[in-house]
Amino acid sequence: MSVLSRPYFHDEAAAFEHVEGMLWPQGPVCFHCGSMEKHYALKGGRTKPSKKNPHGIEIHGLYKCSDCRKKFTVRMGTIFEESKLPLHIWLQALHAMCASKKGVSAHQLHRALEITYKSAWFLCHRIREAMRSDDFTPMGGAGKTVEVDETYIGRLAGTPVKKGGSAHKNTVVTLVERGGNARSFHVDAARMGNVMPIVRANIAKESALMTDESGIYRRAGQDFASHEFVTHFQGRIRSRQYPHQHD
Ligand SMILES: [Zn+2]
Repeated sequence: MSVLSRPYFHDEAAAFEHVEGMLWPQGPVCFHCGSMEKHYALKGGRTKPSKKNPHGIEIHGLYKCSDCRKKFTVRMGTIFEESKLPLHIWLQALHAMCASKKGVSAHQLHRALEITYKSAWFLCHRIREAMRSDDFTPMGGAGKTVEVDETYIGRLAGTPVKKGGSAHKNTVVTLVERGGNARSFHVDAARMGNVMPIVRANIAKESALMTDESGIYRRAGQDFASHEFVTHFQGRIRSRQYPHQHD
């Protein structure tokens, strides 16, 4: 059976059970007062009828705390909060984004999960934000390699789509330490003036830097122990060494 056939990717009740099991291993915790003592599940509740759902939608995972008398769900205080998307769709999106090092674009999620592009963009943004490490100590170090990669995702409002171009997309610069963490940054455009300050601020100068052949990195070798770049066209790795810079 494939991972994707797991019930929590398809069934809302199973999705809640799965997330509750991860976030509340000792049982439900009240979001408002932290009480773990007395609470009860409010089952069978439905949202207000709407045009789209005349009978409302079943509400899952709702609890009421007996200590503070307030209602809570496992989504509160997490990235799943304030979203109308079903939890099992969130779990599919998380799986897709975590399973791929290169990341998944909002467009891919939009098509694969059959949700609106707007919802997909929101999901992507929230998940990336959550995956971002809050540790701002430099990545890499002596003997370590950090890869820099630009990706073009989504769609910038009001920018025409040109065939083969990427000006109409959001530019994201991702730094990936081999065998370590990744950090992503949204920039206006992949230009030396935008990208290099991020690279310098986040990567220890003792690191080996690995980039693509883009001209924006042409002076990067002077800042790091070494600079290797992949020439996509020829599939070769070439390197520039500037050992004298760090005597
Ligand atoms: Zn409470």
